[in-house]
Amino acid sequence: MSSLTENIKQQLAGLDPVSALALLAAEHPGKIIFSTSFGWEDQVITHMVFKNNLPIKVFTLETGRLFPETYYVWNRTMEMYEKPIHAYYPNNQLLEQMVNAKGPNSFYDSVDNRKECCGIRKIEPLKRALAGNEIWITGIRAEQSQNRHDMEDVEWDEQNNLTKFHPIFHWSLDDVKEYIKLNNIPYNTLHDRGFPSIGCQPCTRAVREGEDFRAGRWWWEDQDKKECGLHTA
Ligand code: SF4
Repeated sequence: MSSLTENIKQQLAGLDPVSALALLAAEHPGKIIFSTSFGWEDQVITHMVFKNNLPIKVFTLETGRLFPETYYVWNRTMEMYEKPIHAYYPNNQLLEQMVNAKGPNSFYDSVDNRKECCGIRKIEPLKRALAGNEIWITGIRAEQSQNRHDMEDVEWDEQNNLTKFHPIFHWSLDDVKEYIKLNNIPYNTLHDRGFPSIGCQPCTRAVREGEDFRAGRWWWEDQDKKECGLHTA
């Protein structure tokens, strides 16, 4: 962990999520950014940012393969809060090359192809979004997976050269649901149909009772490879 990240960790100790976000926004003007994929954790943080007029840029990775329900909640959120959500698209040349060479669904053929697709549709645009920023806010919670459990709420991201902060890292799913209900926050209705984690439509399915949080993501692959490379411990 860098000394900057260590300082931030100490500064945020004991603060509630909104106070922590407000402090970081004041101390890193124009260099703090929040990534949303419109899952319910992200909607909680979007509400905190927009409702409190915090100067934090909210962005999403528009992979081109999202669920209709995700586009709906994206639009509804912009209408409701009257705030911008910045979309980052894949580089069109890279995308065209891949799809022209391998077809639109190459990710089902091999782990390498799936990583290539995530690389083009998510990782490259993410790097563009994060460039020049100092703080990256996410909706990660510890109980979502073993990989996430091994993270910390404030951590140094070596790959992207910034500090990551997960304001609701220690919240339970019930805490999240309760907050959404209390504050009347729009959320993705796929959550009510067995989707705890929502990504691209062709790579996400509903999970059965008792299945892991990430079981519905890239379900045809080895269970240990359930991250797309956006968040690694
Ligand atoms: Fe491609 Fe699937 Fe990754 Fe989306 S989740 S970027 S469709 S491989």
